[in-house]
Amino acid sequence: MRYRTVWRLTAGSALFLDRDGVLNRCVDTGYIRNREDFAFLPGVLSALREAAVLFRHIFVVTNQPAVGKGLMTDAELESLHTWMCDEIARHGGRIDRVYSCPDPKEAGGFYRKPAVGMGLRAQKEFPAVVFADSFMVGDTRTDMAFGHRLGMHTVLIGDSPTALAPPCLVERRHDGLAAFINSIATI
Ligand SMILES: [Mg+2]
Repeated sequence: MRYRTVWRLTAGSALFLDRDGVLNRCVDTGYIRNREDFAFLPGVLSALREAAVLFRHIFVVTNQPAVGKGLMTDAELESLHTWMCDEIARHGGRIDRVYSCPDPKEAGGFYRKPAVGMGLRAQKEFPAVVFADSFMVGDTRTDMAFGHRLGMHTVLIGDSPTALAPPCLVERRHDGLAAFINSIATI
């Protein structure tokens, strides 16, 4: 694996964050349907406070097939995300927009990662975003493929063997969001 030693941030740098496994714990049942199921991972809230200073744009890009399968409604997902963003803000962080794709995997639409729809929508709504200066942080190969296709730097959280399998799409790996943000903040 090739590691970059210097990460250059510009006004066009955006931080794209996967949700489950990056911001919050994954659950055994697979779907997080309400705030009772939603637990921020250690260090995430303070990392987001630091990230808010470093990045002009911070987005969440998340596949949420539970909606497409009818296991939760759009309104329930939106309510969960409003609460999540409020919690982040309460701790000094900021999420500029949450993009979510409700399609089940089988549907394989343009907005479901690894397809690039959510990224292109973010860039359309925030034209200052420069993908080459931006980062996709996720815990799966799907996230890495999404970032790679858009020409972003790819940061894997955790050590998913699938995500690390060749051809390797992972530019850098960390155990948590805090470690990644710290690696930028110390440069
Ligand atoms: Mg994930």
